[in-house]
Amino acid sequence: MSGIAGKAVAITGASSGIGAATATYLAEKGARLVLGARREERLAAVVDGIAARGGEAVGVITDVTRREDLKRLTDTALDRFGRLDVLVSNAGTMAVSPFDELRQDDWDAMVATHITGLLNGIGAALPVFRRQGSGHFVNVGSTAAHVVKSPQGVYAATKTAVKVLTEGLRQESGPDLRVTLVSPGFTHTEGVGRSASPEVAAALVRQRDEIAMPPSAVAAAIGFAIEQPAGVDISEVVVRPTAQG
Ligand code: NDP
Repeated sequence: MSGIAGKAVAITGASSGIGAATATYLAEKGARLVLGARREERLAAVVDGIAARGGEAVGVITDVTRREDLKRLTDTALDRFGRLDVLVSNAGTMAVSPFDELRQDDWDAMVATHITGLLNGIGAALPVFRRQGSGHFVNVGSTAAHVVKSPQGVYAATKTAVKVLTEGLRQESGPDLRVTLVSPGFTHTEGVGRSASPEVAAALVRQRDEIAMPPSAVAAAIGFAIEQPAGVDISEVVVRPTAQG
């Protein structure tokens, strides 16, 4: 199956930012969606917005750090649509702070969300893709994996893990599956201001407001990877604002 129309796509972290924009973009192109995130009201607003424009989407409360939640997300695609064509692993948290602040809960959250969360998605979707003889993993990394900028050490390390896991998975995926890493630069989302460090959050929000690209730019990059013919794998897309050094 090529193109986007008719594909069954599950997206994690779909309640805001890049995930919500991707859901909207793909729904407009005719994808059938299963959307996961933890915040029920925000997720419902995305699902309702898509339905109001004639799209097809169902929301499933999902914490990607929980293996069973990812299983429920992929099972929902199978129940509703009879298949799962794409899993977009996008859930993330930009809880960056200097090491000296010892915000170890934030370090743990980034490891759990970006690494364990990604692995939970692979664990849930890979058997489905193998059974179908087709499937596409789209993993959202970051330009932080290309250049480490203080105080983003832990965030950059976990996004580097996303890059490495994606390449490892691609090498083992064989001719039937596709594996894509989408690495965004500064994107205008609420997540940018999520640091518990007030100065860091303020600086990142200032920078975001000066140079960031809209989340729709990342959504279009994800759509480009998905719409390729079955035998064509867009292995990596780096998309960043021109003003980002
Ligand atoms: P947002 O904060 O707007 O979106 C993050 C999404 O992830 C939300 O929907 C949130 O939903 C979800 N999420 C967080 N933790 C979990 C969890 N444990 N389980 C399920 N869902 C979770 O920020 P962005 O849109 O910017 O971030 C999306 C991705 O893009 C992240 O992986 C981020 O690292 C990456 N990225 C962002 C960049 C930027 O400049 N904005 C640049 C490069 C990469 P909820 O809280 O409802 O669960």
